Amino acid sequence: MKLQTSKVNNPNWNEITVTSHVPEKLQKLLEISRNIWWVWNFEATEMFSSIDSKLWNESEGNPIVMLERLNYEKLEELENDQAFMQRLESVYASFQEYINTPFDTKKPSIAYFSMEYGLTNILKIYSGGLGILAGDYLKEASDCRVDMTAIGFLYRYGYFTQSLSMDGQQLAMYEPQNFGLLPIEPVKDEHGNQIQIEVPYPGRIIYANLWKVMVGRIALYLLDTDNDRNSEYDRPITHQLYGGDWENRLKQEYLLGIGGILTLNKLGIQKQVYHCNEGHAALINAQRLVDLIQGSGLSFNQAMEVVRSSSLYTVHTPVPAGHDSFDEGLFGKYMGEFPGRLGISWDEFIDLGRENPGDRNEKFSMSTFACNTCQEVNGVSWLHGKVSQDMFQNIWKGYLPEELHVSYVTNGVHFETWTASEWQRLYDKTFGPEFREDESNLQIWDKIHTVSDEEIWKTRTALKNKLINYIKGQFTETWLKNQGDPSLIVSILEKINPNALIIGFGRRFATYKRAQLLFTDLDRLAKIVNNPHYPVQFLYTGKAHPADGAGQGLIKRIVEISRMPEFQGKIIFLENYDMRLAKRLIAGVDIWLNTPTRPLEASGTSGQKAEMNGVLNFSVLDGWWLEGYVKGAGWALTEKRTYENQDYQNQLDAATIYTILENEIIPLYFAKNSKGYSPEWIQYIKNSIAKIAPRFTTKRMLDDYIERFYNKLSARHEKLIANHFEKAKSIVAWKEKMAAGWDRIELIELSVPEQLRMSPTVNSEYDLKAVVDVKTPDCKNIGLELVMTYRDAKNTEHILDTEEFNLVKTEDTRLTFVLNYRLTKAGTFKIGFRLFPKNEELPHRQDLNFVKWL
Ligand SMILES: *Cc1c(COP(=O)(O)O)cnc(C)c1O
Repeated sequence: MKLQTSKVNNPNWNEITVTSHVPEKLQKLLEISRNIWWVWNFEATEMFSSIDSKLWNESEGNPIVMLERLNYEKLEELENDQAFMQRLESVYASFQEYINTPFDTKKPSIAYFSMEYGLTNILKIYSGGLGILAGDYLKEASDCRVDMTAIGFLYRYGYFTQSLSMDGQQLAMYEPQNFGLLPIEPVKDEHGNQIQIEVPYPGRIIYANLWKVMVGRIALYLLDTDNDRNSEYDRPITHQLYGGDWENRLKQEYLLGIGGILTLNKLGIQKQVYHCNEGHAALINAQRLVDLIQGSGLSFNQAMEVVRSSSLYTVHTPVPAGHDSFDEGLFGKYMGEFPGRLGISWDEFIDLGRENPGDRNEKFSMSTFACNTCQEVNGVSWLHGKVSQDMFQNIWKGYLPEELHVSYVTNGVHFETWTASEWQRLYDKTFGPEFREDESNLQIWDKIHTVSDEEIWKTRTALKNKLINYIKGQFTETWLKNQGDPSLIVSILEKINPNALIIGFGRRFATYKRAQLLFTDLDRLAKIVNNPHYPVQFLYTGKAHPADGAGQGLIKRIVEISRMPEFQGKIIFLENYDMRLAKRLIAGVDIWLNTPTRPLEASGTSGQKAEMNGVLNFSVLDGWWLEGYVKGAGWALTEKRTYENQDYQNQLDAATIYTILENEIIPLYFAKNSKGYSPEWIQYIKNSIAKIAPRFTTKRMLDDYIERFYNKLSARHEKLIANHFEKAKSIVAWKEKMAAGWDRIELIELSVPEQLRMSPTVNSEYDLKAVVDVKTPDCKNIGLELVMTYRDAKNTEHILDTEEFNLVKTEDTRLTFVLNYRLTKAGTFKIGFRLFPKNEELPHRQDLNFVKWL
């Protein structure tokens, strides 16, 4: 019998997870790794990386993964390494001191809701700017000891990982996260079982596993529906961020809102202010209404008064099409039971999400619902605040956009997260010990001018080299795999030149961001990048949403250009823009470029990250840069729009970019002295650090939220709910009477001098008089005002002046008002008169949006 050469059956693998056995003396390492405080404390991350920098890199900077992979010998070695143990003790002591400092009870307590949080690259529960803002905000709230609790989702697949095919097509990969290797913990009940939040959906309960991420002092609770108590149809609710169809989106927003409040209820957590980060979370207010009606016996109107008084809605999207809205049929499928619980009709309920109540063709808009159920609303930059007033004007008809209470807080970025450790050390040394407690203080930052030019340049150069090494280390392998021609790739990598002016562009490839703008005139661009004396290189990066064909087309186009002979090694596209790459890129380039179509960049934050790292911005005067730009500290593309036609405007803007590059930026950068740097350039850096960076920290942003909204809301809310909701009830009683009598209010007489109507003259005074019969004594609290408007060059109507009449006589239900009015301006205006309910308990006019024009 011939001997068989081989006989092997199939392996019978059993997957086992061996938890690393970290020795007793190193338990503190584990403890630190489980609170993501380490993410923004470079002494902690440097300690982790010092254990095994290669492994740290391979673990993508995840200490839990790294500790798992360390072998026992290495752990023993560490245990006996005196220097390391001392380092660990010192980091641990800082950590303990940090987390043991209690919340500041003078600041209002906040519940915060967001679809995404960008806290660290290893926790893939973010896609871009909105999430990173929320992540930065939690870290800052922790640093400033604000008693905040946050709610979000633990996505199984998160947002996609991007790679490119040979021809530059974006490939989106959704990789499952291994929850066991993340800095999260299951929240357990008294029997040690993970809590599942039971969220009633129509006809079934959906069970959401409850997880917790400790963000310093703050808990972020995450919901995840991927468990076997849910049907196959419901398990994927939290699979992907911004994935799935519209129905899944509604199921997600239902979970975030309704499930979010049920989570807080389950944990016994109540806060003073409820903050909706974007409209996604607006349904929190539906559940809060139900709780107040069922739990505290309030009427719908009373509950609404209480909910509104404690709610803030932050809008991030400047175009109406970007806001989520749902057809009545789909919305009814999920929310159909709510009117019954709220004691109102279906039409009354869905109308809360419509600009035109009663219009059955209008979808339910989450933003409109948020505006109607939150007392305060804000955009995320000064300009975006204005844009939001225009966008929401139909919700509060009767007032012009600029009269609306919609306000703004300009976004900022978390200093410790985004500033390279090299700069942090330099700032600490220069700014002194008060700095960390007072990070948005311009006077402190002004001390940057005392640092020598050499030191600034040395720091910049170190970070530039670090970026170049990172790119070489990170991308060689994937490029060889996906993009062929090894010799070409090696030569491209070798061409990345620390002596070149390196310009970075990284952001979502949404078309309004105009990533293609630079490539409008390729000949001119080729001349710029191929000047042998003044080398210039561009690094591009960013993801396009998988459903955004146009965005993906832009990526493909840029990749194609980067492969043209004249641009090889001059234009480089880096795949998979995430927080890790962002941190390197933002600190390593010389210039951060941004070219959005104004005013579509609500704020933008990546340029703010650049500021803290001595990187100069060159950007359209849109979003934050409109406020941030200072002459001699960066460059701006004008805010003026010359052409209505977007193509013409793009060409003009592109030409301006080339001109500024050729005539200003490149000459300034290469005016190098014998020490190898341009003193003027360093002056720009110092100016931008002193005059721009401190104004865009999350510290400043959080302070603004506290001062402009949280304090106001919490104070009013406390007042309204005291004594069994006494004040809330009395305000509602007043509103109800006003509402009942409003339509019967009648104008008896309005006398406006003939001269004022026909041929008014500037600086003349006019006496006006009005008599109004309010018919019922309940409606006497009304005001009357004169409104003057004008039209601007674009034919948009604006307020010129408003002046309130004086109530001079009350006879039964007849009110007599007079006004002595002086015209102060010449021009063509419109004049009108409007009645409005008047009660100083109201936070603002639109709180009871009744207006009667006479
Ligand atoms: C900061 C950041 C963003 C947001 O940048 P914008 O300037 O608002 O476009 C997006 N993605 C990543 C990875 C970031 O770090």
